[in-house]
Amino acid sequence: MRLLSFVTRSGQAGYGAQLDEHQVAHLSALLGHRYPDLKSLLGGGLDEADAVLRLAPRLSTHEIHLLPVVPNPGKIICVGLNYEAHRLETGRPVEQHPSIFTRFAASQVAAGDPIIRPKVSTKLDYEGELAVVIGRPGRYISAEQAFEHVAGYSCYNDGSVRDWQNHSHQFTPGKNFVGTGAFGPALVTPDEVADITAQTLTTRLNGQVMQQTLISDMIFSIPQIIAYVSSFTPLEAGDVIATGTPGGVGAKRDPKVWMKAGDVVEVEITQVGVLRNPIVDEQA
Ligand code: MG
Repeated sequence: MRLLSFVTRSGQAGYGAQLDEHQVAHLSALLGHRYPDLKSLLGGGLDEADAVLRLAPRLSTHEIHLLPVVPNPGKIICVGLNYEAHRLETGRPVEQHPSIFTRFAASQVAAGDPIIRPKVSTKLDYEGELAVVIGRPGRYISAEQAFEHVAGYSCYNDGSVRDWQNHSHQFTPGKNFVGTGAFGPALVTPDEVADITAQTLTTRLNGQVMQQTLISDMIFSIPQIIAYVSSFTPLEAGDVIATGTPGGVGAKRDPKVWMKAGDVVEVEITQVGVLRNPIVDEQA
């Protein structure tokens, strides 16, 4: 399934499964009383969703406005420096453990909605990433069992305000501006993807390829990340892990490239989807 979170024209939040380019099965119309949001569905309702897919009322894609795939994750865990080309361009040393930081849910935007360049900075950068979304909860998950806890995959743009990211040795401010974490368009369940590590991630700015990598080029693999993170915190349904960006970020180019109002940024992962967002300036 390709699962979406959205608001309908009547202003009601819900979720569903994309059937084709034009139609969405309105799963929350049937399951919403038991699973009020996609996060709760991921925690144990995916088989039921699959079973009622044919019965669910249809919505036209024109009748919905997408939300971030999981609008209300309990945690957004981000991995830094997880591709060798990006580690090299930042001049950071090889580490024994993944670099982990966090993002607030309030910093997220949906596919199609604008990423906001804040008025306090012009150094807004893209970071195309694979998002791994947790289904089955767990603590001390072994790498061998890690994929059993994955509900699905999506695209993430870990939009970064570089000067605020580097004010100190803590990344948090530059990674949490409102409207900078783009997430979507759909959560794609693993059965829809042949092999996630064989997929290609591409970031385009105004149509020009800025980043491209195989997912298999990660330094710390998806199972290693899940094992590491679940050692210090329980992973819950709907938790999001942004698995790191490859080389080619705007801050490490010569000349540097910053996103500005009017630009369009896309993160595409083969068999997962295309996350497209325009850039706007924060209004005074
Ligand atoms: Mg990142």
